[in-house]
Amino acid sequence: MEKIFGRPRGLTDLPFTYCPGCTHGIIHRLIGEVLEEMDIISDTIGVASVGCSMFTQELFACDFVQSLHGRAAAVATGVKRSLPDRLVFTYQGDGDIAAIGTSHAIHAAARGEKITVVMVNNAIYGMTGGQMAPTTLEGQKTATSPYGRDKALAGSPVDFPKTIATLSGAVYVAAMSVDTPANIKKTKQALKKAFQVQQAGLGFSLVSILSTCPTGWGLSPADSLDWLRDNMVPVYEMGEIKATEEVKDL
Ligand code: SF4
Repeated sequence: MEKIFGRPRGLTDLPFTYCPGCTHGIIHRLIGEVLEEMDIISDTIGVASVGCSMFTQELFACDFVQSLHGRAAAVATGVKRSLPDRLVFTYQGDGDIAAIGTSHAIHAAARGEKITVVMVNNAIYGMTGGQMAPTTLEGQKTATSPYGRDKALAGSPVDFPKTIATLSGAVYVAAMSVDTPANIKKTKQALKKAFQVQQAGLGFSLVSILSTCPTGWGLSPADSLDWLRDNMVPVYEMGEIKATEEVKDL
């Protein structure tokens, strides 16, 4: 019988540890497919962060390092400088990268470290109980903002990719979403381009991906996709936010 669907070789056989309907799984699959299609599984070193994605290191078929909370970009910098021929990427949630890890990511981008950062933005701290994150939307109810995020108290959501794009060392910054099949396809293209940017030695690349947290949001998986589309996409700048001329020439 012809096999028409299977796990990409870039993933291990272990079951995902995510809640049912969480789009972390889709993003994992995309990276796994890119690793396989670019034939770089054995040349890649991933850096896992802390949060729902902390078991990432067991789910991808490439080598992985577990970093401390928020330090993935700093660890990836050390790995890449030690092993410049490897493709090095981090996998971080918004709570990890846009709160405790902000300085590490910003300075890695400012230095133009030749690493790729994958940021998964679900506007909440998922693993620790759905608290307000820097990316939580104005008015969004969370465990620590039960009346909705109040701008006067907590400010506005941090559009992290836009901040990173202002730094000259960042050569490719994309903000994607996995709410529709078309957007899933675009997200895969962005991940592949970010890896190609790194292979070409051009500088820091970041792909931010809007993702769902059905558990933290208190919505069904299907309603979560609608909520993301209706509420997050209008707030965050989407698309290829920055691609330098060298990147466009790839
Ligand atoms: S808590 Fe949210 S982000 Fe974490 S695995 Fe569950 S649905 Fe996904």
